[in-house]
Amino acid sequence: MTATVANELAIKANSLPDPEKGEPFLLTPGPLTTSYAVKQAMLRDWGSWDGDFRAMTAELRRRLVDLLGNERKAFECVPMQGSGSYVVEAMLGTFVPKDGKLLVLANGAYGLRAAKTMDYLGRACHLLDKGDYLPPRGEEVGQILAADPAITHVLAIHCETSSGILNPIDEISKATYAAGRKLLIDSMSAFGAIPVEPDKIRFEALVSSANKCIEGVPGFGFVLARRSELEASAGNCHSLSLDIHAQWQAMEETGQWRFTPPTHAVAAFLAALKAHEVEGGIAARGERYEANRDTLIAGMRQLGFETLLDDRWLSPIIVTFFCPVDGAFSFDRFYDLMKDQGFIIYPGKLTVVDSFRIGCIGQMDTTIMRRVVTAADLSLKQMGVVSAAPPREALQERQKLQSRPDEMGMTS
Ligand SMILES: *Cc1c(COP(=O)(O)O)cnc(C)c1O
Repeated sequence: MTATVANELAIKANSLPDPEKGEPFLLTPGPLTTSYAVKQAMLRDWGSWDGDFRAMTAELRRRLVDLLGNERKAFECVPMQGSGSYVVEAMLGTFVPKDGKLLVLANGAYGLRAAKTMDYLGRACHLLDKGDYLPPRGEEVGQILAADPAITHVLAIHCETSSGILNPIDEISKATYAAGRKLLIDSMSAFGAIPVEPDKIRFEALVSSANKCIEGVPGFGFVLARRSELEASAGNCHSLSLDIHAQWQAMEETGQWRFTPPTHAVAAFLAALKAHEVEGGIAARGERYEANRDTLIAGMRQLGFETLLDDRWLSPIIVTFFCPVDGAFSFDRFYDLMKDQGFIIYPGKLTVVDSFRIGCIGQMDTTIMRRVVTAADLSLKQMGVVSAAPPREALQERQKLQSRPDEMGMTS
């Protein structure tokens, strides 16, 4: 190791990313800013078949199941190589049988992606598309299930990361089981910071990935599934490599992943899981993110920015802000100015009005969030933006959230 490298590591060992060195904070919902300990855990190599790595896999599975609360003993954890979308596809292919039918509750990009995945799988799907951000409500789920007895499963997106909305999975779960169907949850961007305990919110399986609220690096996802569902899922999957049942069987028998595992990402994730526990688990992680969100929103509102969502629907994961109507504002310029100050932000995904997003997850606290607001303030001044207020259409758009569930559009 050269002197410079050693020196740099010594500095970074006790510090967060240093924008002076060109490493920005990622205000994005995964990949996100990880701790030095997580990065450091990747500085050695592991044999995938070796006992040490098998023990790491076993510990990872056990620690994830332990996050499920009282009913955890009925659940199994199966990690799966690839990004989050791979494990969504694996869950749908493994748990929705070939003759099953899935109701997808969509209010953004990830719900629509799940419906598209069902198209690829050639399996039946009913899409409830609520548009950019309106929440799917329990009542309408109940109506759809009553009208279509062929539906066997419901897929809910826990936090729809494209707007940041926290969907009401509690009432969705109640409506699903009241109708005798089964719930699958994409809790990708929520798991680890927002509780999903099966004795409180019933479900059969959920998926999440390494680079979201547990604060690991990208490389794999995982499913937490009821053992009885896993046992019943043999032969369902359309894909050899995405077969959760087969991966589970192999892990039970050999302690190994079936195909090459992302060893370094697994090592990093274990370090992240330990830090998650030390921080105080899901409750403490959620509180830190909520404080991040509240600090961010209070500061941004003071600058004149408005959020897409009413406070009631805001998740502690990511927040969508409307772009200012002021002609001096340009998102690309704003992005560059924020990056110059050490912060990577995220473009918006709304179809109706311009927006951008700022993530609250990762190795960040309220001190950092205050710096984000200061950077936003400076960026506006540098652009010559006088007011950060959004266009009138943006606020009209937000009014839609106040409408009653039975006035919200349904399509299939
Ligand atoms: C991140 C995310 C995914 C998976 O996205 P990848 O880019 O494949 O990792 C799926 N659903 C939600 C809600 C997400 O936030």
